[in-house]
Amino acid sequence: MIKGIAVLGATGSIGRQALDIIYNHPDKYKSVVLAAGRRVDDLIELARVHRPALAVIADETLLPALREALAPLGIATAAGVSALADCVDLPEVDMVLTATVGYSGLAPTVRAIKAHKDIALANKETLVVAGQLVNTLLSESGTRLFPVDSEHSAIAQCLVGEKPDTVERLLITASGGPFRTWPAERMASATAADALKHPNWSMGAKITIDSATMLNKAFEIIEAHHLFGIAPERIEAVVHPQSIVHSMVQFTDGAVKAQLGLPDMHLPIAYALGESTRLAGAEKHLSLSDYATLTFEKPDTERFPCLSLAQYCLSRGGTAACTVNAANEIAVAAFLAGRIHFGDIYNVIADTLAAMPFVSTPSYDDYVAVNKEARARATALINAINV
Ligand code: NDP
Ligand code: MG
Repeated sequence: MIKGIAVLGATGSIGRQALDIIYNHPDKYKSVVLAAGRRVDDLIELARVHRPALAVIADETLLPALREALAPLGIATAAGVSALADCVDLPEVDMVLTATVGYSGLAPTVRAIKAHKDIALANKETLVVAGQLVNTLLSESGTRLFPVDSEHSAIAQCLVGEKPDTVERLLITASGGPFRTWPAERMASATAADALKHPNWSMGAKITIDSATMLNKAFEIIEAHHLFGIAPERIEAVVHPQSIVHSMVQFTDGAVKAQLGLPDMHLPIAYALGESTRLAGAEKHLSLSDYATLTFEKPDTERFPCLSLAQYCLSRGGTAACTVNAANEIAVAAFLAGRIHFGDIYNVIADTLAAMPFVSTPSYDDYVAVNKEARARATALINAINV
């Protein structure tokens, strides 16, 4: 059977790599929905090549342009936030790849769970914002979710054949980002151009800034907790500047298993699309002799205070991480626009957290409300900062 994939975030870094894999394996996959945020010309170009049944653009003002270009090709079009979730219901969709950025991933993922469509989840923010709720919905529906994030794919690969009660710790590797060796004073005034220079990975702008603050690693600890059900104090970040060891699992007998590979998302994407199976030639093969040394160090939570937000959010639970995510999205956008300093990102998150109400057992509507309010509060805090 050829699996129909809805590629949400098709114009992005993960989306395009997924489309490479799908295009090169027509015996296995077909992209039946392509969805994007605003880059309508890119979406049109991709739709011309991949010929989905439906193309969706989140920004409704761009629908006429999309329709005009794709109607002659017999490709249906839709727009808006609701269309981004509705599209997963299409009968041709067997699996949903959620690869949009930030909070926007939550609604389509929840819809996919309810529609019993397999999910390949790149959008870690879905689990950061609402991991508790997503897990409840997954267990109620029996829908399967496969992680795309390279660290979580590595952990899933290490866990194959192992008994859950033999797992002692998850060791999540982090490159350390572009500021790994920078002193705190220099980091405080780093520019967007500095922060966008990731040493190893080529990714979208938002996750690249999250890697520079190391909030990405805090998010990945939260993501790992929800995916694998391991207690927060048994999940650790380890700085590994070469990004070859994608993560590790330590077992009760002392053994440590790791998955290694080049810093390339093709393999974890292919492993998720294939429901935890291997796709021959998914990525260029690693030659370990090309690396003189693989090194590991403890992360520095003083210079990277965002990292400590993982344990804070997991011990607090409820809507804490939803607030952190919302404030971060606003702060990162402001930083990229040159409106705040790099060092302000953490302060905006911490001040938003301090100002926000907290819901301990949130419903879906609570997450929606908290996300909205946290964005408004973070925006007000940023407006009060004069750069
Ligand atoms: P990009 O910025 O490269 O791409 C994001 C995609 O999402 C684009 O197609 C964009 O559309 C779309 N998008 C953005 N906002 C919205 C919205 N509000 N509604 C609908 N679509 C939207 O991001 P990445 O591919 O780097 O990352 C995607 C997700 O995968 C993130 O959650 C990230 O954390 C995660 N991830 C990424 C990795 C990577 O290597 N890139 C590794 C591990 C996880 P448009 O551009 O048309 O506006
Ligand atoms: Mg990752």
